[in-house]
Order: sequence, then C-alpha cells, then structure tokens
Amino acid sequence: MSNDPLVETGLDELTPMGADLDGAGPYDLGVDAGGRLLAETAALVAGHTGEVVHGPVAPASVDTERIRDWLAGFDFAEAKPADAVLGSVMSALRKWTVHTTHPRYFGLFNPSPTWWGMAGDLIVAGVNPQLAAYSHAPAATEMERHVLRLLANGLGLPSDTDGSFTVGGAEANLTAVIVALTRRFPEYGSAGLLGLPGRPVFYASAESHLAWLKIAHMTGLGRDAVRLVPVDAALKMDLDRLREAYAADVAGGRIPFMIVGTAGTTGAGVLDPLGPLADLAAEWGLHLHVDAAWGGAAALSDRLRPLLAGIERADSVTVDAHKWLSAPMGAGVFLTRHPAALAASFQCSTGYMPAEVDGTHDPYTTSVQWSRRFIGLKVFLHLAVAGLPAVAEQLERDVRLGDLLARRLAERGWQRINQTPLPLVCVVDPEADAAGEERSGRWHAEVAGHVVRGGQAWVSPVRLDGRSAIRLCVTSYRTTASDLDRAVAALDAARAATSLT
Ligand SMILES: *Cc1c(COP(=O)(O)O)cnc(C)c1O
Repeated sequence: MSNDPLVETGLDELTPMGADLDGAGPYDLGVDAGGRLLAETAALVAGHTGEVVHGPVAPASVDTERIRDWLAGFDFAEAKPADAVLGSVMSALRKWTVHTTHPRYFGLFNPSPTWWGMAGDLIVAGVNPQLAAYSHAPAATEMERHVLRLLANGLGLPSDTDGSFTVGGAEANLTAVIVALTRRFPEYGSAGLLGLPGRPVFYASAESHLAWLKIAHMTGLGRDAVRLVPVDAALKMDLDRLREAYAADVAGGRIPFMIVGTAGTTGAGVLDPLGPLADLAAEWGLHLHVDAAWGGAAALSDRLRPLLAGIERADSVTVDAHKWLSAPMGAGVFLTRHPAALAASFQCSTGYMPAEVDGTHDPYTTSVQWSRRFIGLKVFLHLAVAGLPAVAEQLERDVRLGDLLARRLAERGWQRINQTPLPLVCVVDPEADAAGEERSGRWHAEVAGHVVRGGQAWVSPVRLDGRSAIRLCVTSYRTTASDLDRAVAALDAARAATSLT
C-alpha cells in the first residue's frame, strides 16, 4: 500500500512528467469559440422572444412522456455539436413551457424579463463575482447596496436601512422571520426555540402568500404558529379578527412576535391596511413585516407610491424584482430598518473566509445564502439604462391596462369580485357564481382550462375567500390593449362552450 493517494487512482502513471498538462483542458474553448457560442445563444434567445408571440401561450397539455423520450437521447456518453444541442434544448423549451414572455400570459406575476435584465444575467454568469465576502466583490456589492438604497428610499424607509438581494420573495420572507425572532428573542440564536418561555406565533391574512407555512416549518416554529387571520369583504386582513386572535394567543400564554401585512395578495392583488397594522404592531410591540413581493415596485412611481402608504413604518419589507420590476427570475429583496438585528441573525466567522474590509460588512453575514450570485446586476442595469422615468411609465401603463381589462370584461357581462388598484382582475360569471360553490368552482376552472388549451391566453382559476373566479393579471411589458381584447374574446368563447353542470 502506498501512502500516496494518487497511486490508488492510477493517475500518477499517465504522463509522469506532466507534459500534457501544459495545454488547454477539455473545458477551455478559447475566447473566440466561446464568444461565438455566447453570440449564437443570444441570437437564439432573441429569436425565441420574437417567435413566442406567434405561438400558443401554453402547450395544450403537459406531456411528460414525450419530454422523457426526448431526454433519452441524451446519455452524455460523448461530445455533441453545441448548435445541435442548443437547437434541441430551445425547441423543447418552446414546445413544453408556459410562456411567461408571451404578451397574453395573464398569470402569476412572472414577467417578461427586460433585455437589460437578460444582459445583466449573462454578465453575471460570465464574470461570476463571489458575493460572499466584500473584499472579493467590492464593485458588485456596492452596486447592490446602491439599488437597495434606492428601493428603501422609494419605500420611505430610513437611510440606515440594510438588506440583501435574495433568490425571491420566499427567501426574503424567511429572512424576515429570522430577523423578527432574533429581535424579539435575543436568545433564539443560541438556545433556539426551545430556550423561549412560550410558543412564538405570528399573524398574516388568510389571503397571504402561503410560503409562510413552509417558513414556519423550516424555522422550527411549526406551521400552527402561522395565524391566518380571516379577511373582510374586501379581502383585506380583518382587524377585529386580528385583535381577537392576538388576545386569545396572549391569554393562552403564546408569544406573538410579528404581524405580516401583504401589499398585493397573490390571488386578488389586495393591499392590507398597512397604516392600521403599523399602529397595532406599535401598540403590541410586534415586528411589522410588509410582504410587498409584487406591489412593492409601486414605490418607484410617484403616482403609485401613495398606494403603499404605511409601508414606511414597516420593520422589514419584501420586494421581488422578478415580479413587477420585470427582472429575469431569481431576484428578490429583503430590507430592514434594523441593521443590528440583521447582523445578529446571520453573524458568522470562519478560519477560511477573507478578512472583513473596514467600514463594510460581508454579504454572507447578512444573508441566508453563503456563496451568492450577483443578483442585483440585472436590476442595476435595468435602472441605469432605462432610467426611472421609464420604470414609472411601465408601472403606470400596467395599471391602466388592468383598468381597461376590467372595463372590457364588465362590458361582456363578467363581474369583478376583487378591489385593487393593481393590474389584477378576478371575475365571475354571475349565473355560475350563483349556482353554488361546487358547481361554480368546476365551471370557472373548466372555462380557464378551455382558454389555456386554446393557446390564445393564459388565465387561471382562483378561489378568493372560498369564492371561485377567474384571475387575469397584467404581468408582461409586452401586453397591449389588443392583447386584452383577444383574451376577453377567448374567455367569451370558452364561456359559450362550457355548460354549467
Ligand atoms: C410571489 C410572492 C411570494 C413568493 O416569492 P417568490 O419570489 O416566488 O419566492 C411571497 N409573497 C407574495 C405576496 C408573492 O406575491
């Protein structure tokens, strides 16, 4: 037995003097061929973006068998020409994807990504700065700080607001729970939940994004710790029910630590009453988190910002740049006015990380993530090239399109059941709505399915506080007024083809 680990692999015998190690390895295409590959890829993406408009928004069905058959052709046993592989991948994505880049995708806040955002993601993939340690990526880290500060400012948060880019809203909301627990219970970090004198609970509306349940599971709070407060007739958190739940929890020896206000619910785009929630949070000494994953972008329009009134009093806020700011996916933001609590939540030091730079902090000490992609560049490039006036114009255009959509649907006899200034319209057919929850649920789901199978538009069935409806959200900057007309026509045709059973 040798004590040289290489001997066991046999690698020591290949060319002992290493003469063959002086040239390029198998990954090193060289700059010219690599550059051609990226240019060809960019052309395919542009081609895709152009062509997607002319095809169906979504495949007529989910075809798992055919996708697996196609994949059987990839055993990776040998090299293949890049153009053949890229072409095959793009065609698979074209056939077997719901196209969020389509102007008639009226879906779940997945935007058509801006070109600046796509360019940003390409740069990040290529330059690949490591945003764990400040000293490794000072330019990237400062660019992110610059964008975070702009957002904090727009939201009316104080100048020492700190935060981080996240992969999305769920990570930002997870961060909020960790920071809120750490603020309220300094012992949480070392002793954990078992070290607390009672069971912590928090409040969010029944219409809030249910990532809260996963977060409660992950943090050890347990899913029952999420108090889903019923909503009022306008689908906003019912403040009387919140008071009742709080009183019952305190009387029962549980320890409330946070209230979540949602600024733009996922189902109906409704904004919880943020000012009154801030009053209650102050009265009870609770952390107020505002989940503005979708609606928070309104902070960048002078006209729309007042819709978020009260958010400036939040202890922390979630905003997703990959929703209403149209960044390619993988861009959320967490902001908090409590930098010390953020630092306490994620503090860590190791023997191998580079030393901190004075006057800065290492991003991995204020984030759930460690190695981190330069998420903020796609947002920075978008803002720097397009400029804030274009951002405001797009947001306001979307709001006007939402209003137009609501009016077009009303003209055709659809009844709107959600109230929101945001471009999200939920409608029912009055006759189906009156037919009882079960029949109404079946009918509205069938009509939405009919529209999707027809390929003309993507809309979805939704249940709002138990009432079934069809949900249409303007999410693509490519949507125009005539796209609204085509979506309404597709809905009308689906209604005519669907009987109430
Ligand atoms: C989308 C959304 C989330 C989850 O965000 P991801 O980016 O999907 O992780 C949380 N809250 C609200 C209100 C949302 O709209």
